[in-house]
Amino acid sequence: MSMNCCATSVPHHGSFKALPQAVAAWQQRLQAGLSRSIQASDQTMGHLEEEILHQTRDLERRVLEEAAQKKAEQAPPVCPVCGHKLSRVTQGHERSYQTRFGVITIRRLRGWCRRCKCWRFPADYQLGLAEAGSNSPGVQEMAALVASKLPVAEASAVIERLTGVKLPRATLDREARRQGRRAEGQRQQMDEQMSQGAGAEQQVPELRLARPREPFLLVIELDAWDIRERNEEQWGRAEELRQKGQEPDWWHWVYGGTCFRLSQRVKTAGGRSLILSRGTVMTRGGIDALKQQLWAEAMRHGLGQAQEVLVIADGAVWIWNLVADRFAGARQRLDPWHALEHLWAVAHALYPEDEAAAKAWIKPLEEKLLKSQAVEIITELDGLLKRLRGPRREVVEAQRNYLENNRDRLDYRGAKARGEPLGSGAMESTCRQYQVRFHRSGQFWTKQGDEALMCLETFWRNGRWSLLFPHVPPDFDPSKN
Ligand SMILES: [Zn+2]
Repeated sequence: MSMNCCATSVPHHGSFKALPQAVAAWQQRLQAGLSRSIQASDQTMGHLEEEILHQTRDLERRVLEEAAQKKAEQAPPVCPVCGHKLSRVTQGHERSYQTRFGVITIRRLRGWCRRCKCWRFPADYQLGLAEAGSNSPGVQEMAALVASKLPVAEASAVIERLTGVKLPRATLDREARRQGRRAEGQRQQMDEQMSQGAGAEQQVPELRLARPREPFLLVIELDAWDIRERNEEQWGRAEELRQKGQEPDWWHWVYGGTCFRLSQRVKTAGGRSLILSRGTVMTRGGIDALKQQLWAEAMRHGLGQAQEVLVIADGAVWIWNLVADRFAGARQRLDPWHALEHLWAVAHALYPEDEAAAKAWIKPLEEKLLKSQAVEIITELDGLLKRLRGPRREVVEAQRNYLENNRDRLDYRGAKARGEPLGSGAMESTCRQYQVRFHRSGQFWTKQGDEALMCLETFWRNGRWSLLFPHVPPDFDPSKN
């Protein structure tokens, strides 16, 4: 191999050349710094921590630089894409990266691939840096994680304070979006593999371990919420639109679903329901996107093997259409708190000025509802309709029809007896958590930006962060923390 020019500057194998020297310098600086801190009466352990972090950083940076250089030199002069031998090979092409420990520079080999008809840097592939951008994989992860949790303006300062890495807002924003788009691509690929029937290896690991013959119920919950987004055409024209009597339309629907096996739902010592393993999808891409993503996620949780599937949601028509299309044969349940809201609409129509009377009216009906006696409730509403006229009658009639349409979805007594969740609370609380992040004041994103960041958040939540960032230990799962 003709790699002599670099091999002379850094040895291929054996010890790290820069290490002994760097360690000696580090030791000296560290000792001096710590002595100062120990003697200063106004300094705490916090100052000692800060001193050690600060002094060690340059050592870490130099070790990383040398190790990365060694790794770069192991890449053979072969096209990393097509495997063809590279020609017109030259050495020493520098590229600098922002890493967890500061900026490092690596010299790489460059060669021409006659088959791909382009220049190749095989070392970039070896180091996981084949894509554009000048951030190391560790910094890419950092940007993705913090930007999906915090507004970018804060994220930049938080990263600098906790890690010492300086990522200006614009850089952080760009990197996070790039990672988000990468996550979307990966999701798309995983979902397509699933629909081509090749998704067995995507099954959630802890579910794969479960006894395969044990019959189980797969629970699916759906919900939607709205998000405020920048509409490129209307942005900056809010006042003008309002003058014309139009509202700017920057509220858009986000659709979500979650699925889990009933056996994965347990009670904590405090009596709270906890789901040990579940998969969530959340998309800004419309109902069709939700349909595809949720189906793939349900497959990962054993849709193909489930003895029975139960879908719980509010009464929205799109939900039951989606269920009929993708989860035909599933048992359906209306969330009881949504059903109750409809009874409350009747109560307020009957007793608009008298909350106590409205409460007294609804109490027996609530009990009937939870005892699966919907038929009696409908009969009672029919009785009311006989003596009502005008707008009040319209309200009661609408709610009566709503219950009638959902009649087969109201078996709460059976649900209780079988230990199933009554309502779609798990999904609603997940939606609330996304909302907290995506509704933060001052947050205006575009549709693409939203979907990308939401996709990152979902990889994180579903314990699949290591699929995006291979250096993350595969058993890392934030939902288990
Ligand atoms: Zn090639």
